[in-house]
Amino acid sequence: MKYYLKIILLLITLIAYGCANPTSNKTKEENQQEFDTYVIKNVNVIPMTENNNEVIKSATVVIQNQKIISINDTLPKDSNVIDGTGKWLIPGLIDMHVHSITDINFKENKPTEGANYFLNTQDVMVPFITNGVTTIFDLDSRIEHFAQRNEIIEGKVIGPRMALAPLIDGGDNGKKVNTPEQGRQAVRIAKANGYNFIKVYSFLNAETFKAIVDEAEKQGLKVVGHIPDVFKGNLEEVFVPNFGLVAHAEEYSKHSKDFTVEDAEYFAQLAKKNNTWLTSSLTTMIWIGKQLRSVDSVRNSETLKYVYPLISNRWVNSNFYYNQTSPEFITRVDNLIDFQEKLIKAFNEAKVPIVAGTDAGIPGIVPGFSLQDELELLAAYGMTNEQVLASATRLPAQWLGIDHKVGTIEVGKYADLLLLDKNPLENIKNTRKIQGVFVNGTWLDKKKIETMLSDLAKWNTSMKDNDRYQWENRRNY
Ligand SMILES: [Zn+2]
Repeated sequence: MKYYLKIILLLITLIAYGCANPTSNKTKEENQQEFDTYVIKNVNVIPMTENNNEVIKSATVVIQNQKIISINDTLPKDSNVIDGTGKWLIPGLIDMHVHSITDINFKENKPTEGANYFLNTQDVMVPFITNGVTTIFDLDSRIEHFAQRNEIIEGKVIGPRMALAPLIDGGDNGKKVNTPEQGRQAVRIAKANGYNFIKVYSFLNAETFKAIVDEAEKQGLKVVGHIPDVFKGNLEEVFVPNFGLVAHAEEYSKHSKDFTVEDAEYFAQLAKKNNTWLTSSLTTMIWIGKQLRSVDSVRNSETLKYVYPLISNRWVNSNFYYNQTSPEFITRVDNLIDFQEKLIKAFNEAKVPIVAGTDAGIPGIVPGFSLQDELELLAAYGMTNEQVLASATRLPAQWLGIDHKVGTIEVGKYADLLLLDKNPLENIKNTRKIQGVFVNGTWLDKKKIETMLSDLAKWNTSMKDNDRYQWENRRNY
């Protein structure tokens, strides 16, 4: 008896050791993930390449070691076959304006104590990848975002590629920059910390803004952001070289008195001349408008269950927008929403590249799902379905400088792909009809996607009433 018990204990120990040390005795190189080979048969490919976007009908696409290695060419021996009959393949989607939530420290006066809420990175990324969002551009990045990105790179988490920009702002808080030299120093620090982009914000003074954009150019960093308030009345001056991307359409609205088509066209000309692209972020304003009227819009949202419980509790019980609502505010936002349509039409007409973004992560804007909403709005505002797809695939990849890796379906590119049941060139809503997603070569079929989403919803919902996840209690833990 004792003998058997010993063996069982030994076995348990071995199993436990094995589980806890799956990487023991392996070098980092040997430890790299192995990727299966896939063949998607008989699929209609929408390549989204710049000069020839003709659909490749009934194609065979081979994916090996995370990359597309052939289209309509020789087949590998051992591969997993995905039946693409009647289906459509597009590049993975890119959201150019997100605020990915990370570990949070609510003890503001004790920053060195670290976070009091630790988030599961996989849970944070599930809403993106299950909606086909395979790259995100975070526009207020901190060191915690590098940690998320590393977990994804190391294969511990299935998540999107992450482009990161730290936010630089002026004003009277101690962390702000208010002189050209402070601005340049902030850029140099960002460069040293490993950032490739800089985000500028609303309260910078003119000289500091210009110094930041100039220093960023010297350091090889591209600049995205708000149009600082100081440029009201002299908008022409904001368009300096290397101010490459305005973070939402709303930024232009501040500079229009009566929201005319002429104003929209004038803004488009200014942007065009300076090669300053536009991030749409239309869904943002629409959600703000809804929340100004009632928090029920968020509370009853179908997708709220995919949001971390502490954050969803905040959106419902301490809603940033509803807390400052007024009839004047509602009218103003309604006007801004109307003007967005004129802006998109004018910028599209003037051939200013428009990239899709959503401000995902701010109250009411649920990651992943929001990009699907954004694509619909862009189409409703007059862009062709092909232009809309380009705004969330090839164009953002170009702006981010990763178009040699992703953004189109071509041999040699990484397999960031969406398999759809119906043709999105016919109806943009078809980007929601997802049969499967390739995230950097990892295949998630429909069943896996459904499981990921329902597991996430289950956990979030089970924590909904837990004391720890009530927003008002956040400093007690
Ligand atoms: Zn934002």
